[in-house]
Amino acid sequence: MHADKNGDLSPVSATISRDRLFDRCPLGCNDDLQTSAIILTEGPLLRCAMCSHLLSSCTRGQYELALKKWDTSSGTTPEARSAARFQEVTERRLRYALRLLGRLSPPPLRLLDVGCSSGALLAVAAKLGFSPSGVEIASKAAETAQRAGFEVFCGLLHEARFADEAFNVITAFELIEHVTAPVFLLSECHRILKPEGVLIINTPNAASWTAGVMRESWDGFHLSSMGGHVSFFSPRSFAKLAGRCGFRVERLETRRVRFAESHHVSPVVYRALKVLGEVLSIPASLLDKGHDMLAFLRKM
Ligand SMILES: [Zn+2]
Repeated sequence: MHADKNGDLSPVSATISRDRLFDRCPLGCNDDLQTSAIILTEGPLLRCAMCSHLLSSCTRGQYELALKKWDTSSGTTPEARSAARFQEVTERRLRYALRLLGRLSPPPLRLLDVGCSSGALLAVAAKLGFSPSGVEIASKAAETAQRAGFEVFCGLLHEARFADEAFNVITAFELIEHVTAPVFLLSECHRILKPEGVLIINTPNAASWTAGVMRESWDGFHLSSMGGHVSFFSPRSFAKLAGRCGFRVERLETRRVRFAESHHVSPVVYRALKVLGEVLSIPASLLDKGHDMLAFLRKM
């Protein structure tokens, strides 16, 4: 098949399984999915012709198998060597949400962490004075958080049937790249947030320099090693999702550049590319080309 000037192949190849997870753009675009030139084990990434959102061409079975990676009692609790960094980064994000809320909302502020896993973020939120609770579909990880004393619903967000306008802040970290119906998820977040409430989301940036250079060798695109990454946002497609679900983007930032995974190249080459990535990290942030995307959304 012939690739066009954008590296796209079209239309969607008949060789892709009919049981594939996505047959249309989950952001509601009414246009064809085309195959991209990024070829993974499950097949080529699919690209929405209208919004450029990228999607895995995996089957539902492959997706469900990959998701099982997270159902362990330790869940996504950071390892000891990265615990301090996790605490610092999470505190900074939650403090920014507090600044956005200002004096609008008297304490205690209710925070919901969607995809809370074993509760690492809930612990940070409690330390900052939030009244935290969580939702987690992986039962072993949810049990760990419950044993630590946190109120955690085990299941999907809409199944928890939270009351309208129950929360001041909702966090969903490293979650929407795993989700097949992001409009449904964000609409439910919108319903249960108080007016002017804050939703914080992070996800890999598929329009980053990292993704552009590393393509299929970027871990961010990998279904099984990343435990079910299937939906890849750019700042553009993310802003479309937010607007569609009744949010305005209060702040969106991207950080970090990487040109090789440590397990793909020699240590010497990796160190050299790491230095190059560090040099380019500031221009990448200025141009929204970093691979870690973080957004603070406000309920309109
Ligand atoms: Zn689309």
